[in-house]
Amino acid sequence: MFIRQSILLLLCSTLISAAVHADVNVYSARKEALIKPLLVKFTEKTGIKVNLVTGKADTLIKRLEHEGKFSPADLIITTDAGRLFRAKSKQLVQPMQSDILDALIPESYRDPEHSWYGLSVRARPIIYHKDHVKPEQLSTYEDLANPKWKQKICIRSSNNIYNQSMLASMIAASSAEQTEQWAKGFVKNFARPPKGGDRDQVKAVAAGLCDIAIVNTYYLAQMQHSKDKMQTLAANKVAIFWPNQNDRGSHVNISGAAITTSSKHPKEALKLLEYLAGDDAQSWYANTNQEYPIRNNIKASDILTSWGTFKADQLNLSELGKRNADAVKIMDRAGWR
Ligand code: FE
Repeated sequence: MFIRQSILLLLCSTLISAAVHADVNVYSARKEALIKPLLVKFTEKTGIKVNLVTGKADTLIKRLEHEGKFSPADLIITTDAGRLFRAKSKQLVQPMQSDILDALIPESYRDPEHSWYGLSVRARPIIYHKDHVKPEQLSTYEDLANPKWKQKICIRSSNNIYNQSMLASMIAASSAEQTEQWAKGFVKNFARPPKGGDRDQVKAVAAGLCDIAIVNTYYLAQMQHSKDKMQTLAANKVAIFWPNQNDRGSHVNISGAAITTSSKHPKEALKLLEYLAGDDAQSWYANTNQEYPIRNNIKASDILTSWGTFKADQLNLSELGKRNADAVKIMDRAGWR
């Protein structure tokens, strides 16, 4: 009798929890190894199952567009505020209401209309060859258009959103006209036509092809940390310079997330997002990716801490998206391929 009752109870509770806990479907531009362990922990804690689809950032946004209201996705996790802005402009994501997220995530790292929230921070400082450049010679992004840097600069192509967002931040700080003037001078200082990713720029500086590059911090940290000797050797030949410390601060960007417009389980998706902003998840998420936690009270990794503190540009990152089209036009006109 007791066993039969227990089985019945178990059956009931399973049915209830199945009814209460819908699955959350996540589209993630983060590789599986960089997010899955957190999702597993979230399921253990809440009973909410998470299904993960990973892919390239721009591909996932295109996929959301194609699938429209039939998309199974509830949450999109991606990199660069410019992309999140794009997803919002295309009405692929919806606003959310969360006091928890508003309290945890600094204002500059979230959409003013609550359509997306940042989850980690990456900076895009200058790196320089330690034997060829003295840090006293460096000051601002703007100064990199100075002819004294002729044929000294390596950077990736203009079709990459990281550089588009960096230019957008410069437009926000001055004007489109001034930024175009700057871009023309900056391009004249290129040591070679833009090619490769950020890691390739670090390698080029290390090899002496150029003296200076602009790269995202997590690439350099991952290279310093790498098991591949070539990468650590290259990373150790360069140092970071934090530009614009006497004015607006160094350019930063985020990885972040948003609830899709098509979401069938927005409540569960929001719970997951709140979990990702929480203490445990934050330090794992940021440290595993070698990024800065989105919250100041969470400790950064040892490598990032070893680079010292810096002043970050406080511009609300939704401004990057607003100025993206202008940035792309300027790069095009300046001959930045
Ligand atoms: Fe990247």
